[in-house]
Amino acid sequence: MNYAAKYATMVAVILMEMNLDTLETLCQDCQNCPLGKTRTNLVFGVGVPTAKVLFVGEGPGAQEDAQGKPFVGQSGLLLDKFLNLIDLDREKNIYIANMVKCRPPQNRDPKPEEIEACLPHLRKQVKVLRPRIIVCLGRIAAQRLISPDFRVTRQHGDFIEKGGIWFMGTFHPAALLRNPAQKKDALADFQALRRRMHEMNIYESL
Ligand code: SF4
Repeated sequence: MNYAAKYATMVAVILMEMNLDTLETLCQDCQNCPLGKTRTNLVFGVGVPTAKVLFVGEGPGAQEDAQGKPFVGQSGLLLDKFLNLIDLDREKNIYIANMVKCRPPQNRDPKPEEIEACLPHLRKQVKVLRPRIIVCLGRIAAQRLISPDFRVTRQHGDFIEKGGIWFMGTFHPAALLRNPAQKKDALADFQALRRRMHEMNIYESL
C-alpha cells in the first residue's frame, strides 16, 4: 500500500471513531484564518448526528457570535418556520452549519481565503454526518459548494447531484428579511425539498 492509500485509510479510521462533539472540540482553538482572532465564540453547528439533510449558511452574525449557535435571532426564527413547515427541526432531525465558523467583522461576507481555510472543518462535518442532501442557504455557500457562477435568483430550488449528495441552493433567511417578496420562492424551494426527501425515503428514516 503506498503512502497516499495508507494515509486515506488512517483518516477513514480516525473519522469513523470521530463524532461531531470530537470535531467541535478539535475546532474550538482553530486560528487557521484571521477570523479566529476577532470571534467571541466559535459557531461550529447545531443539530442531530443522524441528520440526513445538512443546511449550510455563510457565517455567524453578531448574535450567533455572542451565543455560539448558528441562525439565532430573526433570521434563525424565520429559518425555523420554514423548516417546521416541512416537519424539519434543528433539535430533532437536521444539522445546520456555516461555511466559516467565526464571525466576519461588521457582518461582511467571508473572504475566499477565509472560506478555503475553514472548509476542512465543514468537510469533516460532512464525512461524519454523511448527509444525503445539502441545502445551501444563500449565494456564498451555493457558489462554493454547487457552482462558482450560481445565481440564487435564477437557480434556487434546483437539485444537483455531486459525489452522491444532492445539493440545492435557496435564499438566505437574512435576505428574505430584507426582501420579503422572495419568501414565496423560498417556500416553493422548501416544498421541493420535501418532495425530494419523500422520493429518497428520507422522512421514513427520520
Ligand atoms: S473561520 Fe474557520 S478557519 Fe478561520 S479561525 Fe474560525 S474556525 Fe478557523
